[in-house]
Amino acid sequence: MIHKFFQRIFMRNSSTANTVPVLRTILRKEHCISRNQISPGALKVTVVLQQAGFSAFVVGGAIRDLLLGLEPKDFDVATNATPEEVRALFRRSRIIGRRFRLVHVTYGSEIVEVSTFRANYPINGSMEINTESHADQHGRLLQDNIFGSQEEDVMRRDFTVNALFYNPATEEILDYLNGYEDIEAKRLRIIGEPTQRYREDPVRMLRAVRLAAKLDIQLDEETAVPIGDLAPLLQNVPAARLFDEMLKLLMSGHSLACVLDLRMRGLHHGLLPMLDVILEQPLGERFITLALENTDKRVQEGKPISPGFLFATLLWHEVLAAWNKHQAAGEKPMPALHLSMVEILTLQRQQLALPRRLDSIIYDIWTLQPRFLMRAGHKPFRLLEHPRFRAAYDFLMLRCESGELDMEVGQWWKIFQHADTATREAMLLKETAPKRRKRNRRRKSAGTTDHKKATSPI
Ligand code: ATP
Ligand code: MG
Repeated sequence: MIHKFFQRIFMRNSSTANTVPVLRTILRKEHCISRNQISPGALKVTVVLQQAGFSAFVVGGAIRDLLLGLEPKDFDVATNATPEEVRALFRRSRIIGRRFRLVHVTYGSEIVEVSTFRANYPINGSMEINTESHADQHGRLLQDNIFGSQEEDVMRRDFTVNALFYNPATEEILDYLNGYEDIEAKRLRIIGEPTQRYREDPVRMLRAVRLAAKLDIQLDEETAVPIGDLAPLLQNVPAARLFDEMLKLLMSGHSLACVLDLRMRGLHHGLLPMLDVILEQPLGERFITLALENTDKRVQEGKPISPGFLFATLLWHEVLAAWNKHQAAGEKPMPALHLSMVEILTLQRQQLALPRRLDSIIYDIWTLQPRFLMRAGHKPFRLLEHPRFRAAYDFLMLRCESGELDMEVGQWWKIFQHADTATREAMLLKETAPKRRKRNRRRKSAGTTDHKKATSPI
């Protein structure tokens, strides 16, 4: 007992203070969170659970954000009730997840995520790779459904700043791992032995990058160091989960900072493999920087973001390079573009499972680009009527602003789309080739590129 006590004191003061939970209660008068900052749904859920004899706390990102003066995105609750016990207490609730079972409780328009305290799977020594059936050969946990105590739950969370428990009834914060101190010091520290924790779930490396940018805090050195070496582990993460995480990162309002940080730490290889090449060309770098800056501004202004548009921008310069290559090899412009689009999206899908529902917007944005150069006859009018005109036009403006296209094209469309019919007619450029010849050429090219029809998803 005494030995354990000294060991705990010792551990707390050492550099591995985040490996043994020691409770510190932060009283209401010592912190800045008040009960009325907690969402009505999360408050209700904790009250109902506590009245039924369970313990229940608001945890994770919400408490961290409130302490940092940010507005939480959502409120999560942790409890010692099992998912079935939670489910029985709330009429509008359902159990979700397989790898990690939890309960979604609906309260008005709010959904509160309620998770049962978990224990970490025992791993034999920090550097040893766990080969039990709950982990893969790299140590990645395949499920996380062993319930445990609150202390155990603290240890299986990712970062100390995410491991604070707030009890709305007492308005106290329970801090087992100096997370409060880390928030004050603006330090992001992984819980436990960093290498082992990244092996268990390599997505934590992406979360580290996203949270550091979002919260404007520094990665602690021990937390940061292994990331470079462990980056290849992302290849073992299911592509769908990587996509979800990548989307969170891109839609965090800090996408530019995140993407640059991913690249600096070598984490982009398994996500956007060609990012290096693109960012090394001034045009590509300018294009991606502008696109991400725009995205961040929109998120910060509370405007909606289209994931399809985002991925269309991130992959555009790869498509351009392939397009040029196919044309240089003798392919006609449109078939060459179609081939390139399919090629790049197929390649990208090997890393991130871009959902098929994004295909149509990505393809539309790309295939409409050459049509912006056709400014004679009926074509500009038809383009204006395309349901994806607005997205394709925003994309065109990025191309112009980055210097890839002459700004004159963008300016023309800017005026043309809002002008009256007479002005539009006057703006049209002269036809460059006789119509008959063009039609023949089109018919011919359609006949000679059957393979295009076979591979093009458009
Ligand atoms: P935000 O909601 O701003 O994205 P968050 O920290 O709340 O940030 P969630 O994905 O909502 O992120 O996760 C809720 C909590 O669950 C986290 O605060 C953390 O304690 C825990 N958690 C999430 N992902 C992991 C993970 N990969 N490994 C360990 N714990 C995690
Ligand atoms: Mg959250």
